[in-house]
Amino acid sequence: MDHDLTTSPARPDARPQYAAAAPRSPLRAELKQLPSYRAGRTPADVKGGRPAVKLSSNELAFPPLPSVLERLAAHAPTINRYPRVRPEALAAALADRHGVDAAQVTIGAGSVSLCTLLAQATLRPGDEAIHPAPSFEIYGPATVMAGGTPVAVPLRNHRLDLDAMLAAVTPRTRLVFLCTPNNPTGPAVAHDDAARLLAALPEHLLLVVDEAYREFVTSAGRADGLELLRDDPRVVVLRTFSKAYGLAGLRIGYAVASAEVADVLRRVIVPFSVTTLAEQAALASLEPQAEAELTERVATVVAERTRVLDELAALGVHTVSSDANFVFLPALGDPLTVARAYEDEGVILRALPPHGVRATIGAPDENDRFLEATERILAHRP
Ligand SMILES: *Cc1c(COP(=O)(O)O)cnc(C)c1O
Repeated sequence: MDHDLTTSPARPDARPQYAAAAPRSPLRAELKQLPSYRAGRTPADVKGGRPAVKLSSNELAFPPLPSVLERLAAHAPTINRYPRVRPEALAAALADRHGVDAAQVTIGAGSVSLCTLLAQATLRPGDEAIHPAPSFEIYGPATVMAGGTPVAVPLRNHRLDLDAMLAAVTPRTRLVFLCTPNNPTGPAVAHDDAARLLAALPEHLLLVVDEAYREFVTSAGRADGLELLRDDPRVVVLRTFSKAYGLAGLRIGYAVASAEVADVLRRVIVPFSVTTLAEQAALASLEPQAEAELTERVATVVAERTRVLDELAALGVHTVSSDANFVFLPALGDPLTVARAYEDEGVILRALPPHGVRATIGAPDENDRFLEATERILAHRP
């Protein structure tokens, strides 16, 4: 026993006496072991001649749309007021678009925050959340923060190993995270495989389908989380405005779930965590003209992805196929050494030791710099 409370709490004047084994810190010990989130390095971190190119955080390289900036300016004078407790207008617009009820949509400050909400909503001490590894780095920490136990299931050939994830399910499992396309490796799960996994999962858990890169998917027959949700209330779909919509700095994403799950998420969400400006920028991005421009940008990124993968193959660099806005290089060498070599060339990638390095597909001139750097690094190899 940690505490030996010898004084009855019925005597408020008496100070409780603790045994010697009392914890010395009010902080939860397991949280001290959590890795701090490592953000992608930025050009300011890198010294050198020309400004460095940032290909480390999977952002959209293009500046915000003028219509989005205008909307932000129009709403800036209102920020002395609280935002709405619930961004109803955006929830309604998204429900409309996805053919679901507005009560099924939960807007959050980025889908990262929705991962932590889902963990808080489902995990009691000893409960487990299964996630692929390497994958999005928030799944494990979100689980620990909520008091649960993360269960990491290694990828197979850079892809999610759904059989192994299913085999990892126990009576204590409450969440299974599917990241499709998988960050950092790139492949998306086949829809039939996801449907088979869902059918085989027991009743007592939620399948979280994280579709942060959905807009960049071009392979046929990839998992469609909303389609899975239509037939099964255990599915939670995560989407974000951070990637294809280019609003990473505003922090806005959403979950589509059963009305029952969404109701609990709304009860545990930090009130006012979605700002007025974030909601308005998202609404402006959903306007038909804005969306057409964004779709064009996504098409540019997808075309550039093909070009980069082709040119890397021509250079003899091993890559993983990608349905996202990044490519993964698993075999160039020790990831930290490789990332340092790119930084010396003014190109910032994300090192994911021991697995490889990830390069975001940027604007065409940025991708040129990445490819030129690759050539130089290969040429200087012993
Ligand atoms: C970038 C990313 C997100 C988005 O996070 P936000 O909090 O919405 O910015 C979610 N999931 C994955 C797998 C990602 O890579």
